[in-house]
Amino acid sequence: MVSSADSFRLSWLGWWRLVGQLRRRGRGIRESGAFLLGHRHSGPGVVTDFVFYDEIDPDALSRGHVHLSGQALGKVWDRCGVRGLEVLADVHTHPGSAGQSDSDRAYPMIAIKGHTALIIPAFARSATNLRGVGVYRHLGAGNWISLPSPKAGWRGITF
Ligand SMILES: [Zn+2]
Repeated sequence: MVSSADSFRLSWLGWWRLVGQLRRRGRGIRESGAFLLGHRHSGPGVVTDFVFYDEIDPDALSRGHVHLSGQALGKVWDRCGVRGLEVLADVHTHPGSAGQSDSDRAYPMIAIKGHTALIIPAFARSATNLRGVGVYRHLGAGNWISLPSPKAGWRGITF
């Protein structure tokens, strides 16, 4: 089910950094992606750290669409364990619009119920086009729902 317990917040500075990194790593010609790490103490989660796919898997962006090895996923869990964080969401870019592809739906980066996947359109060219960002929550067994666009506030962006 959709629960506000799964929502999370990212500061403006964090968002600009994230979008800038995704844009640079994709170079306008290929998809790039990252995990958003953070914590949930009370209320919505707070993103404090990113792990970019090409940091943990040199081949992650080489196919044009993002892809991670199982070994790379292990590195994410390790980093979470060391820093006491959890994966709050994943994000990747698309060349065009932010609709989920068949493979996005069929192969979630993390196949956990309640996991959130973000898609940033146009290879993350714009950090201000929040309405263009796709927000999807995994309901399990390959089922997803599309959530409203991220909400901008003075403390940051809520997904
Ligand atoms: Zn995709």
